[in-house]
Amino acid sequence: MKVFKFGGASLKDSQGVKNVAEIIASEPPRNLLVVVSAMGKTTDMLERVVWSAPSKNDFQAALNEVKQYHSQIIDVLCLDSPVIDEVDMLFNEIENEVSSQRPADELYDQVVSKGELISSLILHHYLLSKNIANRWHDSRNSIHTDRNFREGRVDWSKTSASIEMLRPILKDNIIITQGFIGKTEGGLTTTLGREGSDFSAAIFASCLNASSVVIWKDVPGVMNADPKRIPAATVFSELPFKEAAEMTYYGASVIHPKTIKPLANKGIPLFVKNFSNPAREGTKIHECTVDKLPPLIVFKDNQCLISCKVTDYTFISEQQLSIIFHALSELDVRLNLMQNSAISLSFCVDFRENKISKLIERLQQHFEVFYNTGLTLITVKNYDEITFEKYRKQKGVLLEQSSRSTLQVLVK
Ligand code: ASP
Ligand code: MG
Repeated sequence: MKVFKFGGASLKDSQGVKNVAEIIASEPPRNLLVVVSAMGKTTDMLERVVWSAPSKNDFQAALNEVKQYHSQIIDVLCLDSPVIDEVDMLFNEIENEVSSQRPADELYDQVVSKGELISSLILHHYLLSKNIANRWHDSRNSIHTDRNFREGRVDWSKTSASIEMLRPILKDNIIITQGFIGKTEGGLTTTLGREGSDFSAAIFASCLNASSVVIWKDVPGVMNADPKRIPAATVFSELPFKEAAEMTYYGASVIHPKTIKPLANKGIPLFVKNFSNPAREGTKIHECTVDKLPPLIVFKDNQCLISCKVTDYTFISEQQLSIIFHALSELDVRLNLMQNSAISLSFCVDFRENKISKLIERLQQHFEVFYNTGLTLITVKNYDEITFEKYRKQKGVLLEQSSRSTLQVLVK
């Protein structure tokens, strides 16, 4: 049993859909579960639909953008009635949801989840039109979550029982399903957090004890840096689970951070492969040891450095630290880096304006608070002499920290 996951970039246009179909057709017609994301930038477009809901004109314009994008793809793929009707129905549901007065996050999930439903329907029908047999499956009937909208937490025991029911179908079929989405006990749609389709693939694979997962991407595999920033970046041929998990923690966006754990627990290897060049090896992430990994460089933009300074000539105490950590935990803000001195604690967090201004307000009740936004956190894991010196000595370093294996610098 294998699980494939195709991201938005693989399905961004009609050529992408054809390409994905070719990859699927080259596999045996059974024991394959395919998880898809929304096409291209659909999720961003659907977010604009949600945010624009209060204004009728803006809402219609935003929704039309999504409609046109998909109908053009459907046209070029020469698909007709069933898929056009099914997709129209989903757009009607969006219009109904928007007038339903739901709380913001709940509404978000009901609307944004349509992207994956649409892309999976298009792929399903396109495959049928090419005589590639497959079953469409609504993954909300398999992935059960709580009511934590936009970041649904998976109920693993219910989920694994539901996924188990797919096994007899998979014996003679390929299943096409959606990433990113799930359902609450009460039947409302939830999403698993942005870029969560990788995690969905890992959930299906873990519950089915799959032999492997392949994430098909527009890059040649997992690279030691973002090739857009560092053109000399190279592809890892293999990586230990632990290394891959840490990369995602530091902000490498190649795989969703929650993906590794369920696979590592079951020892299911994860391949990251290039969808426009399927013959290429890509990266195998599994239980292994790799000697002399090259330095791995991760850039995390949009960082905010916050410094809390005591105001009364005392030193920063454990009690004061606990006030800071309490505020962070209550507001669910994750620290990316921290450093303390006699009179202050400084830390770096992702800048989400809403949350961060609340955090600063709270901290100001106890400390003198300084902050800087628009920063980049650079992490160099497994550094060597050259990278160590290069990143420390660049201009605009505000904070620096290193251990025996990892260097982090925060720069303007
Ligand atoms: N479509 C969703 C997003 O763009 C989920 C995913 O692509 O993994 O965040
Ligand atoms: Mg995506």
